[in-house]
Amino acid sequence: MMTSVWRPYCQMKTAPPPMKVVATEGCHLIGSDGERWIDGMASWWSACHGYNHPHVRQMVNEQLQRMPHVMFGGITHEPAERLATRLAELAPGDLNHVFFSDSGSVAVEVAMKMAIGHWRRRNRPGRTRFLAFHNAYHGDTTGAMSLCDPKRSMHARYSDAITEQFHVALPRDESTTLELDRVLSRHSDSIAGVFVEPLVQGAGGMRFHDVETLVRIREACRRHNVLLIADEIATGFHRTGKMFAVDHTSDFESPVVPDILCLGKALTAGTMSMAVTIARSHVFDSFYDDDPGAALMHGPTFMANPLACSAANASLDLFESTPYNVANIESILRKRLSVLTDVDCVAEVRCFGAVGVVQFRDPPNMQLVQDELVRRGVWLRPFGDCLYTTPPLCVDDDSLHQICDAMIEATHATVLQCT
Ligand SMILES: *Cc1c(COP(=O)(O)O)cnc(C)c1O
Repeated sequence: MMTSVWRPYCQMKTAPPPMKVVATEGCHLIGSDGERWIDGMASWWSACHGYNHPHVRQMVNEQLQRMPHVMFGGITHEPAERLATRLAELAPGDLNHVFFSDSGSVAVEVAMKMAIGHWRRRNRPGRTRFLAFHNAYHGDTTGAMSLCDPKRSMHARYSDAITEQFHVALPRDESTTLELDRVLSRHSDSIAGVFVEPLVQGAGGMRFHDVETLVRIREACRRHNVLLIADEIATGFHRTGKMFAVDHTSDFESPVVPDILCLGKALTAGTMSMAVTIARSHVFDSFYDDDPGAALMHGPTFMANPLACSAANASLDLFESTPYNVANIESILRKRLSVLTDVDCVAEVRCFGAVGVVQFRDPPNMQLVQDELVRRGVWLRPFGDCLYTTPPLCVDDDSLHQICDAMIEATHATVLQCT
């Protein structure tokens, strides 16, 4: 049957029909015949507390009865005020100024506008471009697309239609650090800021880097006086074992505090679309003036939606009341998935926090891998040369083992079929 839906990241002519889901419960997706799949993706990193959590449901229900939505221009409400205060409290340093938007990509666009506006107000109007890293992914809107790795990303085919930015390798060693310095120095008139997904690069290849690399990026930004913008849309909210990935440096003599922080995905516990861009005081102060023309001109229609804010507040309540053992998730993933390093076409198995990745050298037919997973009651969506899991943080050990069993068996089954 022909569908009216134009699906995401999908060749409509050849892709098999999507899996139909009618309900969710805990860590499970439920099909129309009552079939259950463990969601090893947590709905694209977002369902951190699993689905249908009673506390989230109650808070959103109450808000739905009282006031589902109201415009945010000239109006404010308690759920937004409370959420902004709590996020400012949780974010490191003086990241205290919370701008609401409706999706991660828009939060990235807002960060770009903040950075450009900041330098314009500081008499550096030529600073309108950005540096990002190889394998970066920062979203699907045109500004965010320009930050994605222009060669390796899914947006490569648009590279002639979007602003050209600067892309270099992550500074993992001396030569790559020199290269980062060289580009920042040569283009100091045009570069406003450096975008990084701290410690875990997501949809651009599921790659990890260490805290030393993150510190090197911060140092380079300091040397060249450009803004450091941390895109923690995927890594935020305990995915890496800390509230934010930059918090892995919180015990350092000089912790990494980005000038701008973007959050999304798990912000509303996987229930509604919302994101935030949080600025440090010196960035906020650039716009703080008697001149109305100096204001940040942005305001999505549904920004700070009260339902989404109440879901986010409920999610923060849950993080306060039920700390998750992310180290345990990492250790199980590591222990179980490491057996796949023996498989010929597997290039690498890597695990960090609640992220487990199997990268193939010679990717088998990923559709077959996915079919095998689904047959085993596990929902994962491999992409490119990676099979990966980002389970809900509340996943129990048995379900986590079931995800690992399915990843191992599906890989073996598919590799056999391919050879
Ligand atoms: C998902 C993601 C985005 C885009 O967020 P959307 O809500 O899909 O627009 C941006 N950056 C990173 C690192 C992401 O993982």
